[in-house]
Amino acid sequence: MDSRNFALAQGLVDRSYVSQARQSRSSREGLVRQLLANRRLPEHGWDDVTIKLFLNEIASMDSNNFPGNVGLGEREGRVYSSLVRERNFHLHHGIGRSGDIGAVQPKAAGSSLVVKIAGSLALDASKAAGFTNAKHAAVIPVATGMALTLTMCALREQRSSCRKVIFLRIDQKSCVKSVLTAGFELVLVDNVKDTAADEVSTDLERLEALLNEDDYVCVLSTTSCFAPRIPDRIPAISALCAKYDVPHIVNNAYGLQSRRCMNLIQAAATTGRVDIVVQSTDKNFLVPVGGSVLSASSPKLIDAVLKAYPGRASASPSLDVMITLLSMGKQGWSRLLEVRERTVIHLRETLGSVAEEFGERVLDTEENEVSVAMSLSRAESKGINVTFIGSKLFSRFVSGARVVPRLNSKSKVCGITFNGGFGAHCADYPVSYITFACTLGVTKDEIDIGMGRLRESLSECYKALDGN
Ligand SMILES: *Cc1c(COP(=O)(O)O)cnc(C)c1O
Repeated sequence: MDSRNFALAQGLVDRSYVSQARQSRSSREGLVRQLLANRRLPEHGWDDVTIKLFLNEIASMDSNNFPGNVGLGEREGRVYSSLVRERNFHLHHGIGRSGDIGAVQPKAAGSSLVVKIAGSLALDASKAAGFTNAKHAAVIPVATGMALTLTMCALREQRSSCRKVIFLRIDQKSCVKSVLTAGFELVLVDNVKDTAADEVSTDLERLEALLNEDDYVCVLSTTSCFAPRIPDRIPAISALCAKYDVPHIVNNAYGLQSRRCMNLIQAAATTGRVDIVVQSTDKNFLVPVGGSVLSASSPKLIDAVLKAYPGRASASPSLDVMITLLSMGKQGWSRLLEVRERTVIHLRETLGSVAEEFGERVLDTEENEVSVAMSLSRAESKGINVTFIGSKLFSRFVSGARVVPRLNSKSKVCGITFNGGFGAHCADYPVSYITFACTLGVTKDEIDIGMGRLRESLSECYKALDGN
């Protein structure tokens, strides 16, 4: 209600009550004003009433909700089910125009506003998480693998003489497919194992040798990954990419929640070449699967990706990110990051005590701040089929644990040969192991329960041996 309507309300309800209601409304307006003026995360998260008020206001800006609007085009935002209308907060027009997914739509000022705000909030969240040099960000409605594909497609024009992408080995099928679906040849650079620790990471010598001998569409590196792989050597890679003038795409799938990943990107973007950073919305912002955040210190490649997208797209991922970040606020977001950092220490400790009990050890992969691995060497030496441990956990309702048996075999994925088996991230890793991840929102309780079930599963495997 505007001030005239509040004044009229005073003819119906006690003046002092209306005046209070008006103050409360005006403090909500103040929050919206700050958001639109500063385009930053609000310091404190908004309550649901404020968010809904804002969403209703936004929806009323779209033509499908104009009173008396007559739609005579082929796409007029008509939605049959009231459930679907509600689920979309009456924002039906999606985002983008045929030539640019970032473009403002004449029929949908509200939806267009959502896209811009979601991008600004994601940018601010990235800065708060450690990528302080980030200056541009966009939320796009495809998940990480597809966002990588779009990014590589967007590079095609700038790199029209190149056919090959340098792929720093990450054993995740969507990453392999992202290169192939973009229509490029994948040049695999296997990882190397650290001689002192258990860590597996970038073979910088091999990378430089390749960069020296040919030209490439880009180098694709990865930060967030399963231990014992650690983040790629992002600053060194970005220095090489600057030296050889090759674009550098960083797959930071769930690294936005990790200070270490973000610090690596920040350092790399300051001293070397990072063209774009791609991250998942669901893995980092606690929203349903469906979107990615692109961020960078220069707008060049992000803009090219937005322009490469054919047609319009769903507004849902932007809407989910906007609502969630408004609801968290800067303090809520920072608190989640801090809690996760403490929780991963708890995971290391509790996994450590299970390891001790069963004669195993937690692998020394300190540089991976999200995922932790425990050896299964003793179990294996006693003749336990280590993959059973994973299935036992799954049947006990523990999801997300991964067992990687020590294999000296090769495996072929999408026609490409991966030494050491796909999933191992390198050839000849000396031990079998099981990994667990500590990602945003996981609680100490969940970890304790999970580790309890791991203990039960291992005991059961050993008992089955005794029975034989
Ligand atoms: C999750 C993940 C992907 C794939 O992401 P989607 O969002 O499922 O496309 C790619 N790379 C890494 C490192 C991941 O963790």
